[in-house]
Amino acid sequence: MNLFELTRELIDIPSVTGAEGEVAIFLSTYLEGLGYRVEKQELTTDRFNVLATTGAAPRIVFSTHMDTVPPFIAATEDRDNIFGRGSCDAKGIIAAQVFAAERLRSEGVEEIGLLFTVDEELSSKGAQLANDHPLARECKFLINGEPTDNKLAVGTKGSMRLLLSTEGRAAHSAYPEAGDSAIEKLLDVLDDIRKLQWPNNEFFGLATSVSFTAARDQMLLLIMPVQNCRFDLRLIWTRYKVLLKELWVDERRLSMPPRTIR
Ligand SMILES: [Zn+2]
Repeated sequence: MNLFELTRELIDIPSVTGAEGEVAIFLSTYLEGLGYRVEKQELTTDRFNVLATTGAAPRIVFSTHMDTVPPFIAATEDRDNIFGRGSCDAKGIIAAQVFAAERLRSEGVEEIGLLFTVDEELSSKGAQLANDHPLARECKFLINGEPTDNKLAVGTKGSMRLLLSTEGRAAHSAYPEAGDSAIEKLLDVLDDIRKLQWPNNEFFGLATSVSFTAARDQMLLLIMPVQNCRFDLRLIWTRYKVLLKELWVDERRLSMPPRTIR
């Protein structure tokens, strides 16, 4: 299989986050076939990272993720490009990293590893698990594959996802005075969040962004007793604590402590 065939093969195995098992098994078998020692690092029984080494300490590790966002789109190609879900993010990168490692091995470089993780598109639990692996201590340079328009990137923002929940009292909307709208409360908090001065950073510039990603109601014609809203913060790690402090000003109004995603 050449680089492009491997890319297409990987794209054609559906691996939306949560269902990475099949592609992980394929990669494990493929890398074992090339002579790597392959370890399946389990997040759950059917979701696992694939870590391949040569037996030497992996000082340089090529890494990216196996999962994709939905929906699955099979591979197609024209004269110049390969299309399909994950072609760019990140199955084409997996294929490129495997071929790069193979070229290094053919030149006698043994201290390399390949790490392909699960759950990157959701909360990076696979990457967190990999951090705890004893071999992580051996790694001096980790080259992480992500689409960057073919530019070398040396920094990245982090991500923090929060669930905000407000509570009120249900009533028929014809009698609003009998109820207490959770939506009204939610609007107030969202407006406060929009007005917060988020930290910036010399390197990243306007670094922190906030996106409200989902709101859900429960029933029409009812004053909402509970209202949930999810939001996603893209932020810079070094200012993470400042950011949390800002959020904790409204601690009483947050339904659960902010959960960090490394
Ligand atoms: Zn990606």
